[in-house]
Amino acid sequence: LQGYVGFANLPNQVHRKSVKKGFHFTTMVVGESGLGKSTLVNTLFNTTLYPAKNDTVELSPEVPKTVEIQAITADIEENGVKLRLTVVDTPGFGDFVNNEERKHRGLNQIENPDMPCLDPVGNPYSITSRPASMPILNRRTVSTVTRWSITASTHASTLSSRRVTRKSMPLSILWFEVTILASYAHLKPLDIEFMRRLHTRVNLIPVIAKSDTLTEEEIRVFKERILADIAHHNIHIYQAPQYEYDDSETISENREIMAKIPFAIVGSDKEVEAEGGRRVRGRKYPWGVIEVDNEEHCDFHCLIDFPYHSPLSTHMEELKEYTNDVLYENYRTEKLMAMGI
Ligand code: GDP
Ligand code: MG
Repeated sequence: LQGYVGFANLPNQVHRKSVKKGFHFTTMVVGESGLGKSTLVNTLFNTTLYPAKNDTVELSPEVPKTVEIQAITADIEENGVKLRLTVVDTPGFGDFVNNEERKHRGLNQIENPDMPCLDPVGNPYSITSRPASMPILNRRTVSTVTRWSITASTHASTLSSRRVTRKSMPLSILWFEVTILASYAHLKPLDIEFMRRLHTRVNLIPVIAKSDTLTEEEIRVFKERILADIAHHNIHIYQAPQYEYDDSETISENREIMAKIPFAIVGSDKEVEAEGGRRVRGRKYPWGVIEVDNEEHCDFHCLIDFPYHSPLSTHMEELKEYTNDVLYENYRTEKLMAMGI
């Protein structure tokens, strides 16, 4: 199933109305700097858009450190169903305000450091450039892959007052159906703050980054701790939807995936040689190779590999509806109430 998007096989009643206009789906990856967000985006795109042809996976060059917000959009077509998938890659939040340094100098911590996308509607981005579309590798399913650059405002105080400059990027890109929050051993105050502000507006999927550097036991403990923190702060994270027509197999597979949240992720944009001379996407260590796409090695597959159950395939439509019907409505109501209406 590697590289197979699978959205053309959504249950009929769910996707029929979207077939004509096509799906438009936006995901954003956020978290501290250096956790592997850009690598994850690349890993997601390699897998989703550039299916492994036998052993030759097209790999992009090492990702540069993100200094501005970038988005990659791919137009995918599968059995006549169109999907525009956009993944927004952000610089580490808090990068613009160095709280550690402030602490060091005895200054007060800034409570509202820049967190790109905190307010997706009155949003902090101005879109400055639109690099040329890249030719695509698999013409059968993908028609274009476009990389966008967005510059974030660098001062917290200007976040809300700043006007949105929209040049060529559609507004819908500024709404995120899914936000993948990368953390490590535990949630930092900034992670919590981010979640507290956004959990009513986006579908949050927490992940543990660089899980190849952790032992199985550490992963187990960290997962428990992160879930406890999330529960403690009453944060609502992504829940797999359930339908009357779901069979028991679907239900139990959903349950299995949900039980793995926060997903322990390994990202890699390099191929390495694994056991038996296999070329795999992974990370090499003196004691062996951790394979990105091996479900015994990490939970990366939970994000995409199961075409019927993963958050980024089957549930896209539901996530989108939830975003539009519930999350956006919450936001609107809040705004209206704030305006005294
Ligand atoms: P970002 O700042 O969150 O976008 O992080 P990057 O994607 O730029 O990655 C920062 C560094 O971590 C790079 O040297 C990556 O090669 C490395 N890295 C990314 N993903 C992983 C991972 O899953 N495991 C390990 N061990 N290193 C990773
Ligand atoms: Mg980055």
